[in-house]
Amino acid sequence: MVRLVLIFLIITLPSCTFQKPSSLTVTCIDVGQGDSLLISFPNGKHWLVDAGGVPAGDTESGVDPGHRNVLSVLRAKAIQSLDVVVMTHPDEDHVQGMLAVARHVPVSQVYWNGFEGSRTEKKVRKEFTQRGTRMNVVKAGDVTRVGDVGVSVLSPPAEPILGTRSPENENSVIMLIRYGTKSILLTGDVEEAGERKLLATFGLEIRNVSLLKVAHHGSDSSSMSDFVRRTRPGIAFVSCGKRNRYGHPSGDVIKRLERVGADVYRTDQCGMLEWMTDGRSEAVATMLPCNKNALREAQGVTN
Ligand SMILES: [Zn+2]
Repeated sequence: MVRLVLIFLIITLPSCTFQKPSSLTVTCIDVGQGDSLLISFPNGKHWLVDAGGVPAGDTESGVDPGHRNVLSVLRAKAIQSLDVVVMTHPDEDHVQGMLAVARHVPVSQVYWNGFEGSRTEKKVRKEFTQRGTRMNVVKAGDVTRVGDVGVSVLSPPAEPILGTRSPENENSVIMLIRYGTKSILLTGDVEEAGERKLLATFGLEIRNVSLLKVAHHGSDSSSMSDFVRRTRPGIAFVSCGKRNRYGHPSGDVIKRLERVGADVYRTDQCGMLEWMTDGRSEAVATMLPCNKNALREAQGVTN
């Protein structure tokens, strides 16, 4: 496998990073303890999956990661509108930052899982609706194409998973994205019951993914051994805050990922993460120097 690891050699946000016109890029925006992923497709479309957030986040004080991080990245990349926004589930650390996005960036349509959540989440949906954004509840089995890239929704299941500790997490919107020989699995905050459902329903599809967005910030309530062995990611991105109060990511989860050969990158250690493919080869860039093994490997790579 040809893999190139780069470091953003700039202190400020990269203005254009290294995206080429024919590439598919996944940017894991550093929103602290939360999730936000920007997907830039080869045909120029842009999707945003979650926007980070803090409970009772205050957009006026400038601490809101939607404002501070997500909008900054969109500006730095000269992205003026979004084709699709995905709200994986209604937890604050995924949707609160979406208020700033809804207010400042035109969005064509929103995909969400149909689970109503906090007041913030309802406010976000109202904000989008008032601006004429189309709201779509998505379900496992939905598929779409964005140019040459296939996007499959694998969760929430038609029959929602109920009666667990967190039905919101278990029914996260999960997507499998395929381009050429490469595949990306985005898992939201799915936990054990959702992973089991995924293995039972889409076990073949999720084998050996190129890039895994590790579920639930690397919590040990997710990334069960069977799931990690089946997905066997080449690269794993963990989005979590420095010294967060939940202890994410779990050391056991990191070990499970490394045991199947994954190169693990964490936003709390590496800052913003970016993965790019032309459908055949792939490259990873990190805002800060990190992951010595991956960097050593990169020194022997010429392509
Ligand atoms: Zn979360």
